[in-house]
Amino acid sequence: MAEQKEATVTFGVLNETSDTESRVALTPDIVTRLGRNGISCIIESGAGNAAEYTDEDYQDAGATVASRDEVIATADALGFIDRPSAETVAKLKAGQWVIGMLGSFTDTAYVESLSNAGLVGVAIEKLPRQLSSAQSMDEMTSQNSVMGYKAAITAANAYGAFLPMMTTAAGTIRPAKALVLGAGIAGLQAIGTLKRLGAVVTAYDVRPASKGEVESLGAKFLDLGLDFSKGQGEGGYARALSAEEQAQQQAAVDEKASGFDIVITTAKVPGRKPPVLLTKAGVNGLHRGAVIVDCAASDLGGNVEGSAVGEQVTEGGVKLIGAPYLASGVATTASNLLSRNVADVLSHFVRDGKLGMDLTEELDNALVVAGRIETAEKKEEK
Ligand code: NAD
Repeated sequence: MAEQKEATVTFGVLNETSDTESRVALTPDIVTRLGRNGISCIIESGAGNAAEYTDEDYQDAGATVASRDEVIATADALGFIDRPSAETVAKLKAGQWVIGMLGSFTDTAYVESLSNAGLVGVAIEKLPRQLSSAQSMDEMTSQNSVMGYKAAITAANAYGAFLPMMTTAAGTIRPAKALVLGAGIAGLQAIGTLKRLGAVVTAYDVRPASKGEVESLGAKFLDLGLDFSKGQGEGGYARALSAEEQAQQQAAVDEKASGFDIVITTAKVPGRKPPVLLTKAGVNGLHRGAVIVDCAASDLGGNVEGSAVGEQVTEGGVKLIGAPYLASGVATTASNLLSRNVADVLSHFVRDGKLGMDLTEELDNALVVAGRIETAEKKEEK
C-alpha cells in the first residue's frame, strides 16, 4: 500500500440515502487516496449501504465509522452529493467547509445561510469545466455520463420489443429506432449504449459542434432544417434559445419525432427550468408502446411537455418516464466517480496541511461561494 501521510485534515461524509438517492459521497478506495494526501476520513455508519459499500469496507480502508453527530463534530470539511438541509446546516460549526452541488446559481438565500453560519461553501456546480486542472473534479460530467447510460437501459426495459435487428426462423424483426435529444455528456453516453444494444440511433443538439461527435459514434444527426449556427454560447455550452427560436425548434422536433420508438432527452440545466424540446403534440404523434425517457424531468418541468418525475402512460399509449434520478440507479459506479470528484476538490484546497483558499486563483475564486477569506499575504500584495 502507498505511504499514508500524517493526517491533518478530517473529511466527513453523512448518510444521504433516501427513496431517490442511493449514492454516497465517499467510497472506500477514495479513503486510501485521501490518506496519501494527509486527509483522514470519518463516515456516518450505513452511509454506503445503498451503494453496496459496508461499514467494514470503510474501516478496512482506514476510515472511522461513527454516528451522524460524531461526524459533524469531528470533520473539518464535509462532502455532499446534494447540499445539506437547513436542519444539518444548523448543526454545523463555524469554520467547517461544505463541499457539494449547492444550488448557488439560483438559490442565493441558501448560500447566504451558509455564510451566516460561518461556513465555507464550495459549490461544485461553479466548476470551470474547461480548465484542464479541474477535469478530475467534474461531477456534472461523471454523473451525466452515468445518467445517459442508465437512460438507455431504462428505455430498453420499458420498451415492449427488441432493440436489435433479429433474424429468426419465424421472420426478421426490425431494429428499434431511437432519438436522443441533447447530445452532451449524457446524450453521447445514451447514444453509445443504445448502439451497443442494437438500436438505430439518431440524435440532435442545438450546438453545431455536436454533429461530428454524434456521427463519430455511428449515429445519424437529425437535421431540423433550422439554422442555429449560433447555438453554441459561452465556454462551448448551449445558449438559451429565444422564444421564437424555441417554438420553431419544437415544431420541427415534434414532426420528426413521430417515426421513433424510443426518445431520450437530456438537456438538463442545474437549478433552472429545462428547455421544452418535445411538446404534447410531439408526444401524441408517437405510436402506442413508444417510450420517452426525460432525464431533465423535475418539479420545474422537463424537456418533454407534461412530463413529471415517475412513469405515466398517455391516452395514446406512449410511456413517458420522467427520470432525473438515473445516476442513483447505478449507485456503486456513480458513487465511486462522484467521490473521486469531491475528493479532488477537497485535496485542491488542502495547502501545507491546512484548508485554505487563494481567491486570486481562477478555480478557488469560482468554487468558493460562502465564507470567502483572502489570505493575509494576498491582501498585503494589493
Ligand atoms: P448540459 O447537461 O447542460 O446539456 C445537455 C445537452 O443539451 C448539451 O449538449 C446542450 O447543447 C444540449 N441542449 C441544450 N439546450 C438544447 C436545446 N434547446 N435543443 C437541443 N439541445 C439542447 O451539458 P453537458 O452535457 O454537461 O455539456 C455540454 C457540452 O459541454 C459537452 O458536450 C462537452 O462538449 C462540453 N463540456 C466540456 C468540458 C470541458 O471542456 N472539460 C467538460 C464538460 C462538458
